[in-house]
Amino acid sequence: MQITAAVVSEKSAPFVIDTLELSKPRADEVIVRVVASGMCQTDLHGRDQYFPVTRFPAVFGHEGAGVVHAVGAAVSDFAPGDHVVMSYPWCGTCENCRSRRMNYCINGRGLKMGGTRADGSTLLARDGAPVYGAYFQQSSFGTFALSQARWTVKVRKDAPLEYLGPLACSGQTGAGAVLNALTPSPGESIAIFGVGAVGLSALMAAKIAGCDPIVAVDVHHHRLALARELGASHTINHKTAADVVGDIRKIGGGGVRYAIEASAVPQVLREAIEVLLPAGTCVLLGSARRGTDASFEMPYLQQGRVVRGVVQGDSVPGEFIPKLVDYIMDGKFPIQKIVTFYDLADINRAAADSEAGTAIKPVLRMPQ
Ligand SMILES: [Zn+2]
Ligand SMILES: [Zn+2]
Repeated sequence: MQITAAVVSEKSAPFVIDTLELSKPRADEVIVRVVASGMCQTDLHGRDQYFPVTRFPAVFGHEGAGVVHAVGAAVSDFAPGDHVVMSYPWCGTCENCRSRRMNYCINGRGLKMGGTRADGSTLLARDGAPVYGAYFQQSSFGTFALSQARWTVKVRKDAPLEYLGPLACSGQTGAGAVLNALTPSPGESIAIFGVGAVGLSALMAAKIAGCDPIVAVDVHHHRLALARELGASHTINHKTAADVVGDIRKIGGGGVRYAIEASAVPQVLREAIEVLLPAGTCVLLGSARRGTDASFEMPYLQQGRVVRGVVQGDSVPGEFIPKLVDYIMDGKFPIQKIVTFYDLADINRAAADSEAGTAIKPVLRMPQ
């Protein structure tokens, strides 16, 4: 079928809206009419070929929300008309997938960034020539997308679908880091470094968990103001504060139990470790480029401190995303406050605003 999508023709080229041909669904696939798709840093990293496997022309987008349009012959869990969110792909057969660690799928990177299905076939074509992407096995920057049923998540129909795409990646990355990986008890302290879409999702989850104090650190005043509105008890502007580590230790009565690093800046990771109480845990969410080194003092780890990375919030999407949707409906995860809508035709402006930090979570509305 014909679709309208945003195509990147070569490394770092602008997005161009074009008409493409979408493949028919295979037995285990669904076609989703995309209503809206979040834009993540990872889409722009793909455009800029941070990942050497990326091939062009390509369609990006991996936070798609929409309505099931058609299902493959073997799909029994979905029917046309279902409201869905498309999440990250996993192979289902590797050692990590078999032990429910599908967010650490050993073949995950190829499935996310490789540009094709696992067997090398493409999802899209233009004038008979292949168009790559298959980004996170969905390429949601278009009016329709192919997704495997396995990582397609049904959501309740009374939820505002156009806001739900970000749950597929940045939302569950931040919220899951807190609710699935750290599992804080009420009254435990947390500091969040970098309050973009991921950091603010972590912050909303920390509020749900009852963390106190919740310290937000960022370099943008407007993001810190939003952090306070969403539940931060303290905010620190990293640009103007003379002693960020000292300030946080004071707020936490010697340090904080948990820290989240969502900025991908090596110096900030160091600070996120230094603010921890003994036996505290720092989770790394910021996606740094390959080859980025960070340093910290070894004695910090001797006191039982843990530093670990978390991908996709340790979420099993089919279980965690519906939970987040319930939180949205209960007013506890006000994702509406971090979203800025753009028409698909304005995707280059959305990307520029995202890179400038003026839009926290751009969401592209598809022409219907
Ligand atoms: Zn796997
Ligand atoms: Zn993402």
